Amino acid sequence: MAGRMSWLDPGTVRAFLDERHLALAEEVEAWAAREIAPRPEPSSDAAARVEARRLVADLGAAGWLAHAVPAEHGGAPAGPDLRACCLLREALAAASPLADAVFALQALGSLPISLAGSAAQRERWLPAVVAGRAMTAFAMTEPEAGSDVSALATVARREGAGYRLDGQKTLISNAGIADVYTVFAATDREAGHRGISCFLVPADTPGLEFLGPQVLSSPHPLGEIAFAGCALAEADRLGAEGEGFKLGMRTLDRLRPTVAAAACGMAARALAEALDHARTRRQFGRPLGDLQLVQQKLAAMAVDLAAARLLVYRAAAKADADPAGRITLEAAMAKAFATEAAQRIVDSALQICGGRGALAEHPVERLYRSVRALRIYEGTTEIQHLVIAKQLLAAPDPPSRPPG
Ligand SMILES: Cc1cc2nc3c(=O)[nH]c(=O)nc-3n(C[C@H](O)[C@H](O)[C@H](O)COP(=O)(O)OP(=O)(O)OC[C@H]3O[C@@H](n4cnc5c(N)ncnc54)[C@H](O)[C@@H]3O)c2cc1C
Repeated sequence: MAGRMSWLDPGTVRAFLDERHLALAEEVEAWAAREIAPRPEPSSDAAARVEARRLVADLGAAGWLAHAVPAEHGGAPAGPDLRACCLLREALAAASPLADAVFALQALGSLPISLAGSAAQRERWLPAVVAGRAMTAFAMTEPEAGSDVSALATVARREGAGYRLDGQKTLISNAGIADVYTVFAATDREAGHRGISCFLVPADTPGLEFLGPQVLSSPHPLGEIAFAGCALAEADRLGAEGEGFKLGMRTLDRLRPTVAAAACGMAARALAEALDHARTRRQFGRPLGDLQLVQQKLAAMAVDLAAARLLVYRAAAKADADPAGRITLEAAMAKAFATEAAQRIVDSALQICGGRGALAEHPVERLYRSVRALRIYEGTTEIQHLVIAKQLLAAPDPPSRPPG
């Protein structure tokens, strides 16, 4: 990749990858640098929504969305391959956090269909997801149910042969531009998380209303939706009644390492920009990179990034080795560490770039706004820590203790 700095370094995690992964990483990074990175950041929420629809079509046409869906449901032939998905998110996030979000939402919104959908549901939606013709959304969070998913108040009541859906969802990515929503609702409010079921609700369902956008500091289509007496058929349910919470957690388990990978991509780009600046900017008669306090920052950034990548690809490799198994502990560790590390790395990069780094349109300023949400969505860092502790306390031995 002569002529420009490379952001990714799959060699760091070579032990977890195959040859095809290295080839894929090079290909997607070159594509993202050529096709996505040069695009200006959308200047308004409305423009971001238009750009997101354009990006999903471009990602589909280039074949990258095939990595968002397991192979047996029309995805890339080498799958199920979470490592490929992580490499894609790293490359896209380094080039454009919005492109990464668009890719990620195709995976998040469609994975419940892959995991629990009927043949008819899969046939209707998954080829369109892979082609970038249909955008998906994952609608779990509510005004009074964030980290505490079991508190959700959206209700699917039995009515005739189907259900009647009422409620409201907030902070939903792709709200207003999705073609289909994966919706979590209570079918038995007394049963807590065991009373939650999952439904597939097309955007044109009568009674589904887009209440409006919720505007983030970085471009990301986010918003609120409401359901007022939406009539759903039994065949619109994803999986069995009462299995929705489990399905949601399985989906998040599998995709948390990819959030961590996106964090690594943003951090890698920030480190590359900081190194470039440290080599070229001169103060006190020498390059910034000659100053030991700057060197200390660069070293800490590189160590944080390498450690984050190891946790990401360890989790993804475990998932690929046993697609039916769970990676709850590894996924939570990867997400908690990588997203917090990426925040530190991007902050240090901006500090090294000085005043220029804080200017709008500087690549590090854009990363600074984009990286923050990763510590919150798909389970906050605090919730990841609770998950990790629960796993440790439940295990008879520390999970990493060698035998004997
Ligand atoms: C950019 C973005 C995109 C999003 N996209 C989606 C989406 O597509 N679909 C979707 O369903 N949701 C989405 N969300 C919502 C996201 O999942 C929630 O914001 C997140 O789960 C936290 O919920 P909350 O915001 O209600 O915070 P709260 O749950 O109210 O938490 C507030 C704070 O309290 C802490 N806290 C809560 N409980 C505990 C505890 N037991 N112990 C210690 N600390 C605790 C949290 O860690 C957090 O720091 C998105 C959010 C953002 C920012």
